Amino acid sequence: MKFVSTRETGELKAGGSVKKEYSSQSVIMEGIAPDGGLFFPAGEVSFTPDEIKQLKNKTYAERAFFIISRYLTDYSKNDLISAAKAAYSEEKFPLSPARVNKVGDEYFLELYHGPTSAFKDVALQLMPRLLSSAIQNSRSQKDALILVATSGDTGKAALEGFAGVERTKILVFYPEDGVSEIQKKQMLTQKGGNVGVYAVKGNFDDCQTGVKAIFADPAAKRLAEERGYFLSSANSINFGRLVPQVVYYFSAISDLDLKDGELCDIVVPTGNFGNILAAYMAKRAGAPIRKLVCASNKNNVLTDFFNTGFYNKKRSFYKTSSPSMDILVSSNLERLLYLFAGPGQTLKYMSELGEKGYFSVSDEVKKDLDGCFSAYYAEESDCFAAIRETFENTGYLIDTHTAAAVFAAGEYKKSSPDGFKTLIVSTASPFKFAPAVCRALGLSCGEGFDAVDRLAEYTRAVPPAALSALRGEKNRFYKSLSAGNMYGGVAEFINA
Ligand SMILES: *Cc1c(COP(=O)(O)O)cnc(C)c1O
Repeated sequence: MKFVSTRETGELKAGGSVKKEYSSQSVIMEGIAPDGGLFFPAGEVSFTPDEIKQLKNKTYAERAFFIISRYLTDYSKNDLISAAKAAYSEEKFPLSPARVNKVGDEYFLELYHGPTSAFKDVALQLMPRLLSSAIQNSRSQKDALILVATSGDTGKAALEGFAGVERTKILVFYPEDGVSEIQKKQMLTQKGGNVGVYAVKGNFDDCQTGVKAIFADPAAKRLAEERGYFLSSANSINFGRLVPQVVYYFSAISDLDLKDGELCDIVVPTGNFGNILAAYMAKRAGAPIRKLVCASNKNNVLTDFFNTGFYNKKRSFYKTSSPSMDILVSSNLERLLYLFAGPGQTLKYMSELGEKGYFSVSDEVKKDLDGCFSAYYAEESDCFAAIRETFENTGYLIDTHTAAAVFAAGEYKKSSPDGFKTLIVSTASPFKFAPAVCRALGLSCGEGFDAVDRLAEYTRAVPPAALSALRGEKNRFYKSLSAGNMYGGVAEFINA
């Protein structure tokens, strides 16, 4: 399988247009295409109903190998098998990376049983290992230095994913006063010899701007190269993060035991559009899925897009209790546009989005999208009600992000009340967002571990062991930087 950029229309040559093609290993090393587009497979991948059925008898690591090997064809079988085994061990995911849990009439796909209690672990346990073998195989003399700006969840999941992975180092920047107490503790206690964490005096945007400036700074590049590194990122536009997510949709579908020809609906709480795009890739590759329901919080730019065909990022930004969905530019939507409208239109949409802040798709594209997607958004009060009602009716506890999906599933069913099985994607442990979950249940509590205790006491649910263990752990990182001096942090980390 070769990869192309979502923005490249190709060069006209005798016999047709020719596009620059990339191997999957170079795609994972480079992250983003030279023309600013995102990498995507040049051809289609497909699985037969029999192949999907046979997943049932495989372990999760075997399922992962089976699915990703169709996309990452230039890796050796050995590289992929050992990456999948190490990523999806019982030690990393004691309760399975992708457990399907039937609660009442709904099926929850629980993706939060990994080391950081949120779904980004499923991709970030595998992706660093794929990157590491790509570096090894490329005979590069240099190792990857991963720089991450985080508003909370991604930083810790990336630290856990890269810790101890050969030929990589990772440095995370977080806004000093912009993450929760638990998220801060998770990052500051991170183990591993190849990791570093800095607090930045500023907000998340300052961190992100600072990291972008370092990537664009020739002095930073030179310093890294002198010390034997190339700078790289681990953000969710890297194809190496997308492909592990396709796996759990196939895995869940094999666990749903659908009858021959039976379809299911999938509801995904969405921010950057990575997780739901992976669901669409599974559908396209033959997974028996009818509709994908895109669930947003009050930042409802995607809901409007799917309902009208008009994407407009010029709107108010809301801070909600589901912070990982507080996004106005959903980067991975570009890949969907590429699939439905082609690279020429995608290039046009993306430059309009950059210049004017909005774009519109044609009626034809809109109609095709309608065939696959529905979209709903949940206000804060809808999310809180979903948490409370789910707990009161079934005893099952969900987090604030999953709550948006539960609300969207309810709305969707009002419009299509038939007996299709619905899979609701559950992206974080409720204990990771304990203060907001407590408030939704009407409990008074403090922040951090106080809220974890209160939630556990009231619901009798057991917090994830990795979260509980944090209390006794010592902080390893203490330094904070001004937003203007993040480069100094990189220099210090490299020279240490
Ligand atoms: C990142 C995240 C999301 C959003 O996922 P996308 O792939 O960005 O759509 C939803 N819930 C949680 C808990 C997350 O960490």
